[in-house]
Amino acid sequence: MISRKIILTFPQALLDKPIVYKLIKDYNLIFNILQAKITPDEEGIMILEIKGASRDYNAGISYLKNLGIDIRPLDQKIIWNERKCTHCGLCVDICPTQALSFKRPQMKIEFDKRKCIACELCLRICPVKAIEIQQ
Ligand code: SF4
Ligand code: SF4
Repeated sequence: MISRKIILTFPQALLDKPIVYKLIKDYNLIFNILQAKITPDEEGIMILEIKGASRDYNAGISYLKNLGIDIRPLDQKIIWNERKCTHCGLCVDICPTQALSFKRPQMKIEFDKRKCIACELCLRICPVKAIEIQQ
């Protein structure tokens, strides 16, 4: 039995398809949905913890990849660059874990990396690229 946390990004055309249901039915995988969100450009982002036999896991991942779903492990580190940040607040609304928040009363952005699950939603929305993946 293996257990993995992964981020799935899937296009608008697949949003209403029973993809996750098929992972259970056809590939015997158990999963936990940790986060699910539709981005402003109408992509679906889902963070899953998947458990199952190694062979079933690999077959399930192949099934998802063949559908055109982007799959990444949930082990990346996110860096917030305070000097680039304009404190516009766009990322605060989209962050599902409140890792990015406004510090009051100054209304300046704060980043709590312990809360960050590296879903990358903030990277897509930040107009000045103040948020990056650590290479
Ligand atoms: S990657 Fe960005 S949006 Fe996602 S949890 Fe971390 S700070 Fe929030
Ligand atoms: S979206 Fe970018 S510039 Fe705006 S508050 Fe967030 S990190 Fe700063």
